[in-house]
Amino acid sequence: MTAPTIDPAATRERDRRFVWHPYQPTDRWLNPPFEPPVIAEAEGVWLTTAEGDRLIDGVGSWWVSNLGHGHPRVRAAMHEQLDRMCHVAMAGLVHEPAVRLAERLVAATPPGLDHVFYSDDGSTAVEVAIRAAFQYWQQNGAPERTVFLSLAGAYHGDTIGTVSVGGIPLFHRVFGPLTFETIQVPSPAVRPDDDWHVEAFDALETRLRAEAHRVAAVVIEPLVQGAAGMLMYPPSYLARLRALCDELDVFLIADEVFVGFGRTGTLFACEQAGITPDLMCLSKGLTGGALPFAATLATGRIFDGFRGGGDRTFFYGHSYCGNPLACAAANAVLDAFEQDDVLAASHARAEEMADALARIGEHPGVSRTRQTGLIGAVQLGDGSSDYASELGWRVYKAALDRGAYLRPLGNVIYFVPALTIEPDELAQLMHIAEAAITEATPA
Ligand SMILES: *Cc1c(COP(=O)(O)O)cnc(C)c1O
Repeated sequence: MTAPTIDPAATRERDRRFVWHPYQPTDRWLNPPFEPPVIAEAEGVWLTTAEGDRLIDGVGSWWVSNLGHGHPRVRAAMHEQLDRMCHVAMAGLVHEPAVRLAERLVAATPPGLDHVFYSDDGSTAVEVAIRAAFQYWQQNGAPERTVFLSLAGAYHGDTIGTVSVGGIPLFHRVFGPLTFETIQVPSPAVRPDDDWHVEAFDALETRLRAEAHRVAAVVIEPLVQGAAGMLMYPPSYLARLRALCDELDVFLIADEVFVGFGRTGTLFACEQAGITPDLMCLSKGLTGGALPFAATLATGRIFDGFRGGGDRTFFYGHSYCGNPLACAAANAVLDAFEQDDVLAASHARAEEMADALARIGEHPGVSRTRQTGLIGAVQLGDGSSDYASELGWRVYKAALDRGAYLRPLGNVIYFVPALTIEPDELAQLMHIAEAAITEATPA
């Protein structure tokens, strides 16, 4: 394919005039310390700039590109669906791609998740879960269960509802007056000591036992708190949490928007704890990074809680929910996991990443490294998590100069490459990161 001719300088100029970018300090964008790449094409793990330079996408384009850009199966499925039907409403209509995908998601997720509600992105997937849990209790005999419990450092999206259960002060504080009440307990992942998660669970248990009568659901990111800085905790915490929620009859919402679709080494992170949440939220990897799309899975108990009269309807839905093109992409993603040994390949890459992280961990500018599946993280500096820190951005620039896109989370440099990344591509990515860290951090 030949790229259309794009004038990078003019495109950047037009961008600065008309486009408002997410999570971007405005003045820094308008007067950038260095020019942002203009991306013209993406294939596999490679981004090609308008100048013709190639960058390895080390962060899976904000954690969505689990199968790499333009995966052949996904692309073919989308082409086929494109010629048939791009979109049709879910309101009162049925279409086969959505039915097939729902059947397959029910089969692929932990047993007991039996119904699929479609929406558009990760935030809406969580919003659906929050609202389904809340309304369930309103109309099934426990209207006093109105509060949600979530973890410090949690990130569940950017709608007001999901910000309410969020726990990252820099992102969420300003919206405080708009949010609903949430009980926040310590993160099991903030401290590196091996058994901190046990203490954190005890804190959660004490609080939940005291407040259970008014709690609708506990919302968590299983195994990895992504936006908090790729903070990790073991499956045993999830298993204990499931047991406690069962005992107290509190719903458990697993936000697998980031960790789902193979990121942690299993198709879904909950599998590692052998648990079934009451509601499971999926998005980022659902289309392999091709289209915005989301699904919230629910148990039969929750679905049945909306049966009865019309006043028990789940009054919720988005214009584009169940989009057939996105369903076709998601069905192709499941084909890839079933037929192409994506997980086995990702396990091999995870071992190679572990070796590279061990090497990087010895660098004097690095305080520690951590990894779950094909998520690797390097904590720079003194170990404090400072999103606004310049250190991460210096590494970002040094990596761009060497051919990798490694957007940091403050002082955390992380790796979320496609699960399909080739061994030599991963080696190159990790070498670039090592060289960039060496250049950008004080020895
Ligand atoms: C990214 C993310 C979301 C939000 O997804 P969007 O598609 O950005 O709305 C929700 N939860 C988790 C755990 C995420 O990582």
